[in-house]
Amino acid sequence: MEGKRSNTRPLTLLRKIKGFTRSIVEDLARGRPPLIYIERFRNYCTDTSGNCSCSSGLSTGKEAISLKRECHARRLDVMLRVLLIVQQLLQENRHGSKRDIYYMHPTVFKEQSVVDRAINDICILLQCSRHNLNVVSVGNGHTPFQSLLKKLMAMAVTVTPLMLEQDIISVAQYVIVVEKESVFQRLANDQFCKRNRCIVITGRGYPDVPTRRFLRLLIDKLHLPVYGLVDCDPYGFDILTTYKFGSLQMAYDATFLRVSEIQWLGVFVQDCDNYSIPQQCLLPLTAEDKRKIEAMLPRCYLQREVPQWRFELELLLHKGVKFEIEALSVHSLTFLSHEYLPSKIHNGGYI
Ligand SMILES: [Zn+2]
Repeated sequence: MEGKRSNTRPLTLLRKIKGFTRSIVEDLARGRPPLIYIERFRNYCTDTSGNCSCSSGLSTGKEAISLKRECHARRLDVMLRVLLIVQQLLQENRHGSKRDIYYMHPTVFKEQSVVDRAINDICILLQCSRHNLNVVSVGNGHTPFQSLLKKLMAMAVTVTPLMLEQDIISVAQYVIVVEKESVFQRLANDQFCKRNRCIVITGRGYPDVPTRRFLRLLIDKLHLPVYGLVDCDPYGFDILTTYKFGSLQMAYDATFLRVSEIQWLGVFVQDCDNYSIPQQCLLPLTAEDKRKIEAMLPRCYLQREVPQWRFELELLLHKGVKFEIEALSVHSLTFLSHEYLPSKIHNGGYI
């Protein structure tokens, strides 16, 4: 991430935008139909041969956009309109949301997904992330940095780093990412961070981009080990893979946002036995749970990068039961903070 940052400064991006539009104008002036190549990215497929290039940050092919096809001409029109808005945002050092951009030409764009696709195309063309374009998520009026600060303040009860400009200083020794806010609150109530010198973060389920950016920033700046604590069910597993490998919808951004360092701390199927979770705390997997697991098992990155995670997922399907992190409270409310997490971290109980 550090290396890429120098290529994504506003001035560099503005220069790239100028170069791109100039090449189109030159083509048109010479009576040559413009031809634009957009690289395609995906972060996983179901190719089990191990020969695919997913998750590597490499493109999986190029798409040629020409004016010959009407749908391509329209796509180029939208892209240029959005590019003009982005250029203005960068020149004026202002931020706009994807929704703001949509409402600047609603009759042309017709729907939000058209704008989203154009923004994605522009990110790929300029080799930058959406936040580099000064474009923020829908419904979020804050600049990316303000969002990070807001998040940090919301976590002030358990987070101890000092944030000065974009430098972070911390005495923490590791970071724990928890799936759910209820578990985050449990750890806050138990003053887990103070007792254990760590940083706890939650994305409240599937993490949004600011949460993933914040985590990426923390790991880049502090170089700390990072552990994921999720429910023992297919959703917990999928959330964990979103942190580690990114989401399918934002395959290009994954190269900027993925936290490949994250290790899976729990809760695992075997924890039921290892930590004596009684049978009544376990729930049978539903038909939908089973379908979701079966759909996740062939993801190429599991076999290639984390075969142990894949094995755990198979085990979950085989056992046919799931359980929540909170099931550990069957022993006592503080069992998670005082027993489970310290024993996992000190005994290397993660994969
Ligand atoms: Zn693949």
